Amino acid sequence: MNSPRVRLRADIEAMAPYRQGKPAAADAFKLSSNENPFEPLPAVLAAIAGATVNRYPDASAAELRGRLAEKYSVTPEQIHVGSGSVALLAQFIAAAASPGDEVMYSWRSFEAYPNLVTVAGATSVTVPNTADHRHDLPAMAAAVTDKTRVILVCSPNNPTGAIVTLDEFERFMALVPSTVLVLLDEAYIEFVSDPSAVRGIPLLTTYPNLVVLRTFSKAYGLAGLRVGYAIGAEYLMDAARAAAIPLSVIDHAQRAAIASLDYEDELFDRVAQISELRDSLWQALREQGWDIPRPHGNFLWLPTGADTAMAAAVFARNGIVVRALGDGVRVSVGESAAVDKLLTSSAEVVHNLR
Ligand code: PMP
Repeated sequence: MNSPRVRLRADIEAMAPYRQGKPAAADAFKLSSNENPFEPLPAVLAAIAGATVNRYPDASAAELRGRLAEKYSVTPEQIHVGSGSVALLAQFIAAAASPGDEVMYSWRSFEAYPNLVTVAGATSVTVPNTADHRHDLPAMAAAVTDKTRVILVCSPNNPTGAIVTLDEFERFMALVPSTVLVLLDEAYIEFVSDPSAVRGIPLLTTYPNLVVLRTFSKAYGLAGLRVGYAIGAEYLMDAARAAAIPLSVIDHAQRAAIASLDYEDELFDRVAQISELRDSLWQALREQGWDIPRPHGNFLWLPTGADTAMAAAVFARNGIVVRALGDGVRVSVGESAAVDKLLTSSAEVVHNLR
């Protein structure tokens, strides 16, 4: 006899789990997760090797918070460390939004946002990107209701690579009620060289409802260790700390992050190399006929529309795994050995677009 199924939440059952970029075949390039292709620095490996395993990690990540507080001239209480910025996003959304409340974000943006909002039981409100793949901040400000609790702003935006400018952001913040939490997701900020781009940390004193989210996954190359941080008002960090699953930032992650701060110059040389490669790929793509805005992260966005499946198949045939996302493909930048295959693929795709 079949026993009745456990009663689960219908919204969770209807949800697909987070979809990771496909693992690449041994001879293929995995350019689907915006990872940093560089191996860890020896000092980072040494820090990991010295990590404690039989004891629990420091739940408050005190040393790492101290280092970040020093770096950004804020208090340690204004920093909160999580197991990746995706964990921080979940904590802040859970801390601010209940069932019936709205969480707003631009779409298309980071594919984890919709699921995190659903898990919190809140309602996603999406505002379409502009035709040139940017956040439409005036439309977002106009879409605020008395149910809006959180607004996610992603700059550079994953997957389109567009930045929000400081000017746009300040005009936006002037329109958003200060009772609404604005999460500025800066996962890729270290790759930005455009001086007009918003940088959230200097704005924290002006906008007390602003929280900046950053990660060691991208520029610092620690994606596998899961460590990110938030900066903002102490009571907001306390709320996220309360909503967090305790002890999820392991000692290896805390130590590797601290070692990475010690060797930031070397790591940022790598970031500069990746950014240079990105800019030269963007130029080459434009010469191939792609009409794409300037990318600011460690990835390129090819708006392939109805031909997205075809595009992903062409890349795959040429040994490149990309992320197909509805109306475009996103290709990570950093593997200089992949450049020829990438450009051969993109030339074939642009030639075959409908
Ligand atoms: N925000 C954005 C925009 C991202 O693209 C990602 C990773 N793909 C994250 C947050 C989460 O990164 P992590 O959890 O590794 O810090």
